[in-house]
Amino acid sequence: MKIQMVDLKRQYLSLKEEIDKAISEVLSSTQFILGPQVSEFEKNCSNYLGVNYAIGCANGTDALQIALMALDIKPGDEIITTPFTFVATTEVIALLGAKPVYVDIDENTFNINPALIREKITSKTKAILPVHLYGNPCEMDEIIKIAKEYNLFVIEDSAQAFGAEYKGKKVCSLGDIACISFFPSKNLGCYGDGGMLTTNDENLYQKIKMIASHGSKVRYVQEILSVNSRLDSIQEAILNVKIKFIDQFNDRRIQNANKYSKALEGISQVKTPILNKDGKHIFHQYTLKVERRDELHKHLLENKIPNAIYYPIPLHLQPAFKGYAEKGSLPITERLSNEVLSLPMHPDLLDEEINFISETIRKFYS
Ligand SMILES: *Cc1c(COP(=O)(O)O)cnc(C)c1O
Repeated sequence: MKIQMVDLKRQYLSLKEEIDKAISEVLSSTQFILGPQVSEFEKNCSNYLGVNYAIGCANGTDALQIALMALDIKPGDEIITTPFTFVATTEVIALLGAKPVYVDIDENTFNINPALIREKITSKTKAILPVHLYGNPCEMDEIIKIAKEYNLFVIEDSAQAFGAEYKGKKVCSLGDIACISFFPSKNLGCYGDGGMLTTNDENLYQKIKMIASHGSKVRYVQEILSVNSRLDSIQEAILNVKIKFIDQFNDRRIQNANKYSKALEGISQVKTPILNKDGKHIFHQYTLKVERRDELHKHLLENKIPNAIYYPIPLHLQPAFKGYAEKGSLPITERLSNEVLSLPMHPDLLDEEINFISETIRKFYS
């Protein structure tokens, strides 16, 4: 038994014929950039997500940067977000000279706690950037209500949540702009880097398209300072195959999560994920809160069970983000960064793997 954190090989082998054919069609066409696959995938994506527009770009980090640029975020502007996420989320805020303002998380969902947002709003606040962490949707009604009250934009970081739902609607369709990553290990992943933005607003759509392509509508006429960020045709051909199976993949993740939670029941040192009654969590990660975390982490590795800590250092304590928030000011995040542990999770996980992993954890605590 060779357990993988994410098993991309089993998935590729199960779709090999169709994916190889799609790639070879792009090779024959030699339209590597902005070929016909591009708009076809964008259409499939917007249909799937229930959103008016989808625009491909080079990766999820670029999607976030382009979103901020499309909303005219300027140096000195403040963006409210979570300190408990991948660094990409706030890196782009700081790169544009704006300021990430961190709001502590809810200890059950790991997501930004809406009840703590209002006290962080100032005259400089321009947007709220919630992250649907681990594939678990944020409390979007509450967040959108606050945004309306203060006239703020909402940008969803949906990099980990393709296919997740909130009150029956797909995430990515709820805020002003959403940002998606197709990094290979994400729930919908390509075979390289890839990303996407979605919006319901036609003006934002036009602006996003322009910013992702050198600020030009007409070739060689640059209207706004921009970037070059595109999703290439080979990646889109792969994604066009895989998107047909995304619900099936996500459902298998949910089943695997349920199996883990059942197998880990009754271990007092282990808290399994709590499901949000308004949301469909699609388990990009299956993350526990545990006692003696670092010891368990080592013990599992010694037993050839891969596992990971997402994320060991909250963003306000990262060397590159010094000065945005004091140590001790975001206590739930700081505590949970010492308790979280993510187990292997992917659609092709076997029952015997789940049982072996769960038994190893049970024995560790007994
Ligand atoms: C993966 C990820 C990103 C960045 O996506 P890339 O495609 O790797 O640039 C942004 N935010 C979150 C929460 C992520 O997990």
